[in-house]
Amino acid sequence: MLIRKLNYKGKKYRVVWNVSEDLFGEYDPNTNELRLNPNQTKQQILKTIFHELFHVICTAKNVKVSDIGEESVCLLCEEFITILKKNKNLLKLLNSYL
Ligand SMILES: [Zn+2]
Repeated sequence: MLIRKLNYKGKKYRVVWNVSEDLFGEYDPNTNELRLNPNQTKQQILKTIFHELFHVICTAKNVKVSDIGEESVCLLCEEFITILKKNKNLLKLLNSYL
């Protein structure tokens, strides 16, 4: 299931499943578009979505990604996914509390 839009902090974000082939994804704060490469593994799409959402959050909260560093962003996103994958009950709990 490919989503086409997201809402966050009263803003609407378009999700476009088309991006330059050399990118996994990108977030354009000028158009509020998340562009995702559909030609990735499901595992990589998960990482990319977390990663681009991180950029959305940083932009919305005026946090400079450069202060955190892209490598830290990647690490955090990957590890959240690792924890969620290995703890299906956690995912169920989170889903039931949302
Ligand atoms: Zn990034």
